[in-house]
Order: sequence, then C-alpha cells, then structure tokens
Amino acid sequence: NAHLDRAQALITSIPDYPEPGVNFRDISPLLADGPAFTAVTEALVAPFVGRFDFVGGLEARGFLFAGAIAVMTGAGILPIRKAGKLPKPAAAVSYSLEYGTATIEAPDVLHPGDRVLLVDDILATGGTLTAAQALVTELGAEVVGSAVVLELTDLVGRAHTGDVHTVFTA
Ligand code: 5GP
Repeated sequence: NAHLDRAQALITSIPDYPEPGVNFRDISPLLADGPAFTAVTEALVAPFVGRFDFVGGLEARGFLFAGAIAVMTGAGILPIRKAGKLPKPAAAVSYSLEYGTATIEAPDVLHPGDRVLLVDDILATGGTLTAAQALVTELGAEVVGSAVVLELTDLVGRAHTGDVHTVFTA
C-alpha cells in the first residue's frame, strides 16, 4: 500500500525534544497528508472491526485517530484525559513517569460489558496505555484491544501492556 509506505516516511524524528537525549517522533506531517492519515487509520482499526462498542483515545493525538475510527465504524468515543480536564471523572488511574507521576481520567459513559478499543499514536514505555487499560477495567468495561500507530520497540512497552496491534515499528 503506497499510502501506508508514505505514511511511515512522514513520521519524522526530532532530536533532543522535549529534553536532551530524547528522540521525539513527530506525526504532524502524517496527519497533514489526508490519504496517508486515512490509510494509517484503516490499518490501525483493521483487526478489531465489529468487535468494539467504544474507541478510547488517549489525549491528545489518540483523540485524532479515535474520532476517525468512531466515524468509520459507528463506535462511540471514550476520551481518556489527563487529570483535571474533565468536570466529573468517573475513575482515575495514576502511573509512574521517568520523573514523577501522571494521572489519567475518563468520563462516566461506559456500562458494564461495553467493549473498548484503545488507540494512541506512539507506544513508548507503555505506561500510558497500561494505565488506560486499568482505567477501562475499573469502569467495568472490557478492553478488547489496544492499537498504536508507532511502537518504539527499544523501550519494550509491550512488556507492560500485553499484546498491542502496531501499524509501524521503529
Ligand atoms: P509511554 O507512556 O508509552 O511512555 O508514552 C506514550 C505516550 O506519550 C503517548 O500518549 C504518546 O503520545 C506520548 N509519546 C511518548 N513518546 C513520544 C514521541 O516520541 N512522539 C510522540 N508523538 N508522542 C510520544
């Protein structure tokens, strides 16, 4: 698929962002290319079509893919947000970062047994996605899968997350 090949080439590396020693992957050029974005979104959701009721997007770039997948499949959206953004969070999960901790929260929209597909742009250490899986479970729903556009394999995030569907690896 030529669009997918181009999409991979459109993910650029920004050295020393957001701090020295970190090689940040920037997906903005991929998002800017409509057919590449469409191809990536289709590849992201492909193994899960017909198997989920909600697509859970991780703030902020996960929202973009979640919105597209929701419209493609008729699923609802579960926005998984950084702490303090939701007026009435139904649950919160904290997790460790390299320095300090972070917390994610979700609104009160799930019912027991709802099937949720989690999506994000990058899998790095896996801390964020693992916390999102715990958050959905805490809300009584079922995580049917996790999917990311790019997995940074050196960081072995999937050791924490379990199986993750990835469109690209680096
Ligand atoms: P993790 O929790 O797996 O270490 O980090 C994943 C989260 O941080 C994702 O929500 C992802 O958007 C963001 N992230 C980590 N590293 C990068 C990166 O190099 N590029 C981008 N675009 N996001 C990153």
